[in-house]
Amino acid sequence: MSGILVVANWKMNPRTEREAKEMASYSDERGVVVCPPFVFLDMVGKTLKKAELGAQNCFGSPTAGGGPFTGEVSSAMLKDRNCKYVIVGHSERRKPCNEDSSVIKDKIRASLKEKIVPILCVIEEEKEDGALESIRKQLLEILEEEFFKEIIIAYEPVYAIGTGDYCDIEEAEKKKVFIKSVLVKNYKKAKNVPILYGGSVDSKNAKDYIKRGGFDGLLVGTASLKKSEFKKIVERVT
Ligand code: PEP
Repeated sequence: MSGILVVANWKMNPRTEREAKEMASYSDERGVVVCPPFVFLDMVGKTLKKAELGAQNCFGSPTAGGGPFTGEVSSAMLKDRNCKYVIVGHSERRKPCNEDSSVIKDKIRASLKEKIVPILCVIEEEKEDGALESIRKQLLEILEEEFFKEIIIAYEPVYAIGTGDYCDIEEAEKKKVFIKSVLVKNYKKAKNVPILYGGSVDSKNAKDYIKRGGFDGLLVGTASLKKSEFKKIVERVT
C-alpha cells in the first residue's frame, strides 16, 4: 500500500442499483476503496476507473472456491469480480453473526489464498481499562506470521461507529502505537503494516487522524453515503 487509503464501507446501503451507481461515481478517486454490498459489486466494479473495489465480507471456507455453504460468498468469487480488498472482523458482524477469532482467521486465510488484501477490524468495545488487553488478545488470537505478506489493520472503537462520538485523536494515536507495539513484538514481518482509523470519521476530523494521529488511512461508514462529505474527506487526506 502506498499513500493514504480511504475505505468506503457502504454497509447495507443503498436500496437501489441506481443510487449505488451515483455513489460509485462520486467515490471514484485514487486512494479510495469502495466496499458495496455483494449485489452491487459487479456494477460498481465496472463504474470505477480510479478507485479500487472491496467487499464487506467473505466466507472462510478452506476450499476458498465453491461448496455447500448456502448464502455465502467465497473469496474466489470476489476475486472474479476484481475485488482487491475485503473487510473482515467488523463489529457489526462479530456478535450479530457469531464471528469469533477463529472464524475471522479463516476469512483472512481464504482471502489471502486469492490474493485479496484483508482489512482486519480490531475493535474496542468500550472506553475502559481492559481495552488494551482486549486489543492484544484479538491480535494474538487472529493473526499468524504468514498473514503479514499483505494485511491492513483498522482500529475501530465500537462506541464511535455510526454514533458521531468519534475517538479523541490523541486517544486513537495511543491505541495505534499500542497495536503497532504488540505486532512488532510478536511478528517478525509486522513492522510496516498499515493501520487505519474507523469510527465517525467526517470532513472535519478526517485530516487530524492522518496528520496528528499518524494513521495510514481511514475506514469510513456513514460519511461515505453522503456525496459532499465523502468528497471533502478524500480531498483533505489523499
Ligand atoms: C464502519 O463502518 O467501520 C464505520 C467506521 O462506520 P462510521 O463511519 O459510520 O462510524
